[in-house]
Amino acid sequence: MTFFVFPPPAPTVLPVSGGGLFPVRRVFCVGRNYADHAREMGNDPDREPPVFFTKPADAITTLPTVPYPSATQNLHYEGELVVAIGKDGSEIAPAKALEHVFGYSVGCDLTRRDLQAAAKKGGQPWDMGKAFDFSGPVGVLHPVEEIGHPSAGAITLSVNGIPKQQGDIAQMIYPIPEIIAALSKYVHLAPGDLIFTGTPAGVGPVIKGDRVEIHVDGVTTHSFTLV
Ligand code: MN
Repeated sequence: MTFFVFPPPAPTVLPVSGGGLFPVRRVFCVGRNYADHAREMGNDPDREPPVFFTKPADAITTLPTVPYPSATQNLHYEGELVVAIGKDGSEIAPAKALEHVFGYSVGCDLTRRDLQAAAKKGGQPWDMGKAFDFSGPVGVLHPVEEIGHPSAGAITLSVNGIPKQQGDIAQMIYPIPEIIAALSKYVHLAPGDLIFTGTPAGVGPVIKGDRVEIHVDGVTTHSFTLV
């Protein structure tokens, strides 16, 4: 007889507009997908293509409060459109890619910028700068049947009501079909996978007590407070 030696963790879930829960499997993130943000981070978007990195599924949180993480003096917000995968596949063609999308939300790719900068400088992995507990606040998931496939529209992030990031998802270097096509060359995408699609310019620090609000036109709004 086999058995779990301790109870397996409950899955991370996102509430779906209209009902139901979306079980999160893996979390992929695109770095440098807006040229103006690539430049503000010291990269050349014409010479350095977007990169993929990951967060663990349990970094995702939908709660209105997010604990300020340990081990950083420079926590940054990055407002992003989030794609939720509903159908598996690898080597997906861009023309077929949107068939694999269940829906969309918005999220914040919280980043320990000091740790990420040190990792970059040392040629080391970004994980402790990007993939820590509660590093991925995400809002309600809106299915394709409700909102279609957004390809243009304002993406904004404010801190305590003050606008900090203002872009348009049409400015992505890799649009959503190309992200899915590129990522599916590296991994077999599966239902439950989330993709953070990158952030526009204007990233900056947040401190305990700050309220962050992210919005993408035609998708949704999500806000949380750091505690
Ligand atoms: Mn990001």
